Amino acid sequence: AAKERGTGRVSLASDKLIASANSQMLLEGQLREAISNDQLVLHYQPVVGPDGTVLSAEALVRWPHPERGLLNPGDFLPVAEQGDMLGELDRWVLRTAFTEASEWPQLCGGIIGAGVGIAVNLSGLVPGDPEFVDVVSATVAATGLAWDRVVLELVETSLIDLPSRSREAMAELVERGVRFAVDDFGTGYSSLARLKELPAQIIKIDRRFVSGVATDASDFAVARALVDMARAMGRSCVAEGVENATQFHVLRGVGVDAYQGWLLSKPLPAKEFREILKLGPVHIPSGA
Ligand code: C2E
Ligand code: MG
Ligand code: MG
Ligand code: MG
Repeated sequence: AAKERGTGRVSLASDKLIASANSQMLLEGQLREAISNDQLVLHYQPVVGPDGTVLSAEALVRWPHPERGLLNPGDFLPVAEQGDMLGELDRWVLRTAFTEASEWPQLCGGIIGAGVGIAVNLSGLVPGDPEFVDVVSATVAATGLAWDRVVLELVETSLIDLPSRSREAMAELVERGVRFAVDDFGTGYSSLARLKELPAQIIKIDRRFVSGVATDASDFAVARALVDMARAMGRSCVAEGVENATQFHVLRGVGVDAYQGWLLSKPLPAKEFREILKLGPVHIPSGA
């Protein structure tokens, strides 16, 4: 009986393993199809200047899954990585974001839409890829987007110690008007001192520093030092995850150039984002 129980436990555990492996494989297959059948969607979150003017939008991918509901990137980027689909996903996002953003001038009134940047996160398609410059350029050409509206976000760890080939690829795009942003700055390994080596025009201050900026003296000190340093090096700073007015006003006090977060707007479906654009500057609540 003991032996049977033992076997029972083993087979129960292996059943679970098989079930989770199956569901992982199922999800992988579904994601591959969703990408090729154009079933993912982009939400857009405004990035605003100190007076609330919408400067750009960050495209954030979502997967409306038939059984599981609307999935966030945290739910399926690991699946994409596991299935070696990050490059495909990034290309889909580039194409879709550039296409949608290229329509904003007509749909939202020329002056507003035409000046608004479009930021895309890259994790599979990276500057070291031999086809990097060609893929970005072909997408810009196909959508007719103005080069100076393009912002490409890469995490800090993918921007340190870049081989010269990657730097040259980035420089080629920068020459045409593209800007690069270091995403989640402060969460990687580089210190403030390495900021100078990062080939990016925009520094996005990670939410973890922003959250404490009004309540924690050391978070405030880090944010202020970062902004001072970025300015000295000719970079602009975006604060991520701004959730309350106090944070916004403290950050504005130290000279942050742009702001993104729930205080200003959650990421919105394309149509709702266009409505925001039409309304003009986002309302900034007064400091508490
Ligand atoms: P990220 O690029 O740092 O994007 C910002 C994340 O913070 C987004 O989560 C956004 O919804 C969330 N956020 C914005 N404002 C606030 C706020 O005030 N408070 C809080 N707590 N969160 C806020 P999301 O959309 O779940 O995306 C998570 C990450 O997934 C992104 O972080 C990015 O690294 C990645 N990602 C998103 N879309 C794409 C994509 O199209 N391609 C690739 N390769 N990665 C993507
Ligand atoms: Mg980002
Ligand atoms: Mg970020
Ligand atoms: Mg993040």
